[in-house]
Amino acid sequence: MDLVLRLFSRSGLEEIFDKIEKGEWEISSGLRNMIHQRESYVSCIEVVIAFLQNKEQTIAYRIAMRQYLPEGPRFRQIKEEEKFFGSSGIHDQARYLSSLFLEDIGDLIQATVGPHFGFSKYAERISSTAVSFDPIEAELQKEISYTDGILEQELARYFDENIPELVGFSVPFPGNLFGALVCARWIRKNYPSIKISMGGGYANTELRDLYDPRIFEFVDFISLDDGETPLLRLISFIENNGKTSLHRTFIREDGKVVYKIDPQAHDIPQSVLPAPSYEGLRLNEYLSMFDVPNPMHRLWNDGRWNKLTMAHGCYWKKCSFCDVTLDYISRFEQSSASILVDKMEQLIAQTGERGFHFVDEAAPPLAMRDLALEILRRDLQVSWWTNIRFEKTFTPDLCKLLAASGCIAVTGGLEVASTRLLELMEKGITIEQVSRVCKGFRDSGILVHAYLMYGFPTETEQETIDSLEIVRQLFQHGLLQSAHWHRFAMTAHSPVGKNPEKYHVVRIGPEFKGFAQNDLWHTDPSGADHEKYGDGLKKALYNYMHGHGMESSLQKFFEIGIPATSHPKKLITSYLKDESNEESHMHGYRIVWHKMRMQRLTEQGDEVEVLFISSRVTFKLLLPLEIANFLNEAVDRMEVNSPEPMSLKEFVETCASRLGMSEGGLEKSGWYRKLRKEIAWVFRT
Ligand code: SF4
Repeated sequence: MDLVLRLFSRSGLEEIFDKIEKGEWEISSGLRNMIHQRESYVSCIEVVIAFLQNKEQTIAYRIAMRQYLPEGPRFRQIKEEEKFFGSSGIHDQARYLSSLFLEDIGDLIQATVGPHFGFSKYAERISSTAVSFDPIEAELQKEISYTDGILEQELARYFDENIPELVGFSVPFPGNLFGALVCARWIRKNYPSIKISMGGGYANTELRDLYDPRIFEFVDFISLDDGETPLLRLISFIENNGKTSLHRTFIREDGKVVYKIDPQAHDIPQSVLPAPSYEGLRLNEYLSMFDVPNPMHRLWNDGRWNKLTMAHGCYWKKCSFCDVTLDYISRFEQSSASILVDKMEQLIAQTGERGFHFVDEAAPPLAMRDLALEILRRDLQVSWWTNIRFEKTFTPDLCKLLAASGCIAVTGGLEVASTRLLELMEKGITIEQVSRVCKGFRDSGILVHAYLMYGFPTETEQETIDSLEIVRQLFQHGLLQSAHWHRFAMTAHSPVGKNPEKYHVVRIGPEFKGFAQNDLWHTDPSGADHEKYGDGLKKALYNYMHGHGMESSLQKFFEIGIPATSHPKKLITSYLKDESNEESHMHGYRIVWHKMRMQRLTEQGDEVEVLFISSRVTFKLLLPLEIANFLNEAVDRMEVNSPEPMSLKEFVETCASRLGMSEGGLEKSGWYRKLRKEIAWVFRT
């Protein structure tokens, strides 16, 4: 953030343009035009940054009018967004245009003075698939680049205030490694006594087989998996001059890489871990960029979300493409709802923000239910979203409960929407199930983003096209709001990577040379030529996300000839029609009416008109007198806080017996269906 804010300032841009004007660059005519428009870029930049930091709002009107910002090459894509522009608010439009403006400048920097530059990644190309440390070392030995120099200057300012004994770098992705090493090199040179450690997702997945000692020229320790215990041990190790045993940590000893593990050490249980601390972070300086005009994509980048997890790891841990052999997936441990909501309250007090992103691998549905109940019990006003599996446990009622507690979106893997391949990848879901679950979310107003995959081992051309047809139908029914296609990657820690023969693929490289190992190259002799479909799949999805092209033939999105889909046009419609009657499985279910009040209006013989007032709806209903009396007695037991919750079974049986009718007959009566639809949630206890 320091680097970006320094470059994207008035003085930063002046300096960049000066340098560019003095050099000779082979750049596109679009980027060259930006140099001619230098003054416009320099005069707008600070206002745009303030706008994206939510510090300056009124400028949105000028930006959205498109008479204010200079428009570089990235603005060409706007033509396709015109429909979106018609339906979005001024601030969204302005945020999107401002993001394009910054990305244009980022492209110009990358093409000239700062080839390593990127907004959330730095020199990513060098660290991707770095089986050997050679390319990284070679890049670090070159003359320092302009942006590397600024990175060092920004880092140095922290050392004016305080000289620490230990500096830790969290490296989540390959695109964070090089920047960390540039910073580590500077610390080594200027403060050689400071110890430097590294951890994070990149180390956890890619550096597990490390044997090349050269990275220890830059760092002293590399820790794997959950960081708390290794870090506590490390601090004690430094304080006790090496007398404490390290845990899950690589060090260099006698020129060789040694992995230290202490069998006596254990990870700190979720129930004991405190809420994350945001102390020292300048939260109001982050940029809310908005680079894809889609409501779900906006959640990722716009605004700031407090991060928590409901559980460590994944309760399913079976999918054959996933890193199920690693601790971050395989070790499942859940937090209790009350501890979780305590942490939410602490984070609200700390940050002032009421938005939560639960960054679970796959949040357990029943943990989500308990979280929602606890939020409602405490009347905590929050918004939250998380990653799920499309489990059938997500009934329409559970979706309503989640929405009432503040759940606004879910993301989940639909992967290849093909029955055969979902089974082969052991995803444990069916397309029918996904359709129904998404309907429950849609009807509750919860947005759904699906992770899609193509190129899974043995996937045929027909299966790829059929999968796209399913996606088209899901968008057509409003069951998905957003999605993203990923090309299947065979990772070293997944069941496919561990046992390619079982999945009929052949590993062809790369040869490991002692540094990073994760993505394995493979061929798929019995599958399609997957490369050919990527562009068409992405183009179709892009259109669907903007509400276009859902009636067009799939062929329209592809440059190559594709087979017709083998799915009927109404496949998803047929899945949605066939919903089973939920009340028939009512054993073990609880009924909840949250914050519901009843007001008796007029009695008409053996019926009474009742006004129902819930937090969301108000309506009148003519009820049998017996039922109105029963509801008066029972209403408190249906509150979320009730010490004696009402079961669905008791509710249905009591109503049916007071009216002397069958349970089936009761479920068909108009007043019952209205109450169930509008105010009652039923879910498994
Ligand atoms: S892909 Fe998701 S659901 Fe499947 S094992 Fe991995 S984390 Fe769990």
